[in-house]
Amino acid sequence: MQITSLFKEVLETDEMILDDFKIAPYTIDWRKRYQTSCRCVLRPKSVQSLQKIMRIAYENHIAVTPQGGNTSMCGASIPSVENSVIVILDRISKVRSLNILDKTVTVEAGMVLANVQSFVREAGFYFPLSLASEGSCQIGGNIACNAGGLNVLRYGTMRDLVLGLEVVLPNGDLISHLSSLHKNTTGLDTKQLWIGSEGTLGIITAATLKIYAQANEKITLLVACEEINQVLSLLEKFQFEYMHELTSFEYMSLPVFELSQNYSGISFGLSGQHFVLCELSLDNEQGFNKDLLLEQLLSLGLSNTIIASSDKESQKMWQVRENISEAQKNTLGVSIKHDIAVPISSLQSFIENTELKIKSEFPDAIILLFGHLGDGSLHYNISLARDHSNEVYQYEEKLNQLVYTEVIKCSGTIAAEHGIGQLKKKWLSWVRTEQEIQIMQLLKKNIDPRNIMNPGKVLPD
Ligand SMILES: Cc1cc2nc3c(=O)[nH]c(=O)nc-3n(C[C@H](O)[C@H](O)[C@H](O)COP(=O)(O)OP(=O)(O)OC[C@H]3O[C@@H](n4cnc5c(N)ncnc54)[C@H](O)[C@@H]3O)c2cc1C
Repeated sequence: MQITSLFKEVLETDEMILDDFKIAPYTIDWRKRYQTSCRCVLRPKSVQSLQKIMRIAYENHIAVTPQGGNTSMCGASIPSVENSVIVILDRISKVRSLNILDKTVTVEAGMVLANVQSFVREAGFYFPLSLASEGSCQIGGNIACNAGGLNVLRYGTMRDLVLGLEVVLPNGDLISHLSSLHKNTTGLDTKQLWIGSEGTLGIITAATLKIYAQANEKITLLVACEEINQVLSLLEKFQFEYMHELTSFEYMSLPVFELSQNYSGISFGLSGQHFVLCELSLDNEQGFNKDLLLEQLLSLGLSNTIIASSDKESQKMWQVRENISEAQKNTLGVSIKHDIAVPISSLQSFIENTELKIKSEFPDAIILLFGHLGDGSLHYNISLARDHSNEVYQYEEKLNQLVYTEVIKCSGTIAAEHGIGQLKKKWLSWVRTEQEIQIMQLLKKNIDPRNIMNPGKVLPD
């Protein structure tokens, strides 16, 4: 029987998208780096429907790619083998419960991140995961990628925010352990397997997440620096003076800052080579001493600073930061992207050495460096002046090699927060030991013996 006919037997008509024109947007990734095909897109309206889908997929060896907001940067969210089906969870997207005493919210996996943030905010609390893609990415995708984002410094990554999970396994069985316990030492913490698994071990359907008190006041400031070591001194100073208050420490190099300012139609009139966008979140009601902050900046020789004087000004600063990926995609076309992290103590030498290596082989390289420097992670994107089209991908392997060689020298990682997907799987062995990869393969084989869950992602073929 045809794949679509098998699903038609158990699903309602509106749970299947069969029309090629309607399927098309689900088969291309956000970067337009990968284009693929699939037999159909399945839109289960309940967890029970999803279980039926997985039972059929399991019995008939049909490859399934779960897709959230399709904002993956490494081709994780679209199929990489033929005859796959895509499963989307936009109809499994309710809030299940809010528990104020436990400080938790339980939401379904198809809920868009921005909707979770606003639901929690309206209830008087704060959900800290924040990414530029928050208007479209979904909680299930955030968990499956172990998303990081802007507030990792204080709240950690998605892994640190998940207390309980509900997952449909490849054979259709349901594991529901939506625990709201902040402590639980009863053997291995199996939910961690699904966090960061990029859809290769099952489909996440719901999660119990930590929520926090809202800050009394937020201070946003934009600091221009001439030297990268001033950026690092600023981080050191803030981590000492504002250990509990520092929530974001975002870095933008000059080309990135200019590109995004122009794209956003915003100009802050700051001059420098390096720019830092910081957020301090204050929990007490004593008010903030801005004069002291300015003095601290001056002591580092940093006078070229703007402290946002209104929410509007703060939003403009964040707009410049959050528009970077869009600005790059729409202005410079195709780029070779790297989502790396190195120990902060090695950042300066990494940045200097990598630029030297790249420029010596690609003199026309435009290096766009930005990211969550406060936690050591940087987006190292490279455009080539010679070409803005897909032709640039012919240089990807060489550029990856140059960048990743420097990353490894610093004991860093090739995937700080975007995951491996299909883009980086051949580089996995550069950063994980043979034994670690074997353990991953063993787990995959046991949980997904028929290799139907997002095949072709993360692990080497
Ligand atoms: C402009 C922009 C800015 C970004 N900024 C950041 C950032 O600051 N930090 C960061 O970490 N990431 C960032 N990203 C990357 C991306 O948004 C995140 O990885 C996000 O968590 C992916 O969520 P999604 O719902 O779009 O997942 P998708 O892209 O749809 O899927 C990603 C992976 O998760 C799997 N998946 C999706 N839903 C489920 C589910 N319910 N169950 C099991 N597996 C599932 C997919 O199979 C795939 O492997 C950015 C992306 C863009 C486009």
